[in-house]
Amino acid sequence: MTGDIYYVIFLVLFVVKNNVSCQEMNETMNYLNYFGYMDGNRTMSEAIMMLQKEAGLERTGEMNQETEALIEMPRCDAPKGAYHGSRWLVKDITYHILNYPPNLEAADVDNIARDAFSEWTKHSGIKFKQVQQNAKLTIEFTDSMKTTTGVIAGSAKFPICRGDISINNALNWTTQRSGIVPTGTFSLYQVMLHEIGHSHGLRHSSYPNSVMTTFIGGNEVLHIHPSDEQRIKILYSDNPQELSEKKENMSRLQSTIEPSLCNIPKISAIIAYEANLVYVFNESAYWLLDAWTNDIEFNFVQYPMKISHWWKEAPETINTAFVDNGNHTYFFRGALCWKYLSGKRDLAVGFPKNISEEFPGIPDDIDAVMTWSNQKTYFFKGSNYWRFDENEDPQVPSVYPKPLSRWGISISSDLDAVLYFGHYSEDTYFFKDAFYYKYGEIHEAVIRRYPRHTAFWWFNC
Ligand SMILES: [Zn+2]
Repeated sequence: MTGDIYYVIFLVLFVVKNNVSCQEMNETMNYLNYFGYMDGNRTMSEAIMMLQKEAGLERTGEMNQETEALIEMPRCDAPKGAYHGSRWLVKDITYHILNYPPNLEAADVDNIARDAFSEWTKHSGIKFKQVQQNAKLTIEFTDSMKTTTGVIAGSAKFPICRGDISINNALNWTTQRSGIVPTGTFSLYQVMLHEIGHSHGLRHSSYPNSVMTTFIGGNEVLHIHPSDEQRIKILYSDNPQELSEKKENMSRLQSTIEPSLCNIPKISAIIAYEANLVYVFNESAYWLLDAWTNDIEFNFVQYPMKISHWWKEAPETINTAFVDNGNHTYFFRGALCWKYLSGKRDLAVGFPKNISEEFPGIPDDIDAVMTWSNQKTYFFKGSNYWRFDENEDPQVPSVYPKPLSRWGISISSDLDAVLYFGHYSEDTYFFKDAFYYKYGEIHEAVIRRYPRHTAFWWFNC
């Protein structure tokens, strides 16, 4: 009898305990789903690692105290996943604060916004001025940031979408600008700095103590960090020489986190199987890019990997590579090419073959190759390019080769790599040394001048 009572008590405790766990589990699941960590068929453990990585925590893949605290913390909800941001074309921008939070004086909010804007102006050169109407960008304190999970402190758009800022009206804001804020209050200055960073075109950063961290609701007020300074300077610099110097500084900062991809002088190929599956190659190694964070995929693999790790028979070093219409992967070296079936790992029968046999009319030692939007394949070598279509006769029309300059980019010869990114933006990118160009770019409101720094825009360096 006594035993039965203990058994019943045990059962009750067990059920209660499990109910709590299930509820917590559901909350975690909702949070991970809502903020996109589960995208791309990630398992829950991978999603938790993603979240931990973003916050600079140890990646255990399990919910621990630190990670639970993270989920409770107010965060930013700015858009994510874009490969490229944008920047302001004009040097003078007006802003309008549409309303004010209930617990702060309007004059205090005006001062905080003005000072936060001018902190960024020091590094970007963009000047901001408050006006009462017809502003370029607006700042709004809104009640519409309620979610079923997590707490959103603020959000902002990139310059290409006007840079508007939204801040959660329901949080207990303080005017405190440094030090530790009392629990339950949040520094408006810090959140303003963060959202203005987005308004300039900056993405989130996992660099320790960066004001561009996703998790902006911590107790200690963050300020513009040297890594943020470098990023904004690179974004707003037009001088390639200056850019290179800044990039070197950035690489030095970054080298403690992710040494290699940020420092390679040039790439050999960049290939995309889908928008979220983009590989970058130098001569002998490859990296998998993570579209979600613009970062190097954590994926339990330490990049760079030797090309032969995945593509066993591929040569030690390559000239270039591409993926064809049938999702076959080709590698090129000298006079030879290697073709891998769409499963990516199996070498096709009879390969390697001579390029002249597989692609009649195409020379050896090519620099770069892509299949374009018209489904035809373009080979680049020196200052020329050739168009190949296996269903045409001849497969390379007699008007080829044509000069590279016809693509309207200012690279006259010796491309490093080319990518038609049909899975993502339908744009064509040409890579040379540390820079890249985009083909056919037309844009009105925002500068998208080229060349741009590959490491910054593609590798999040
Ligand atoms: Zn943000």
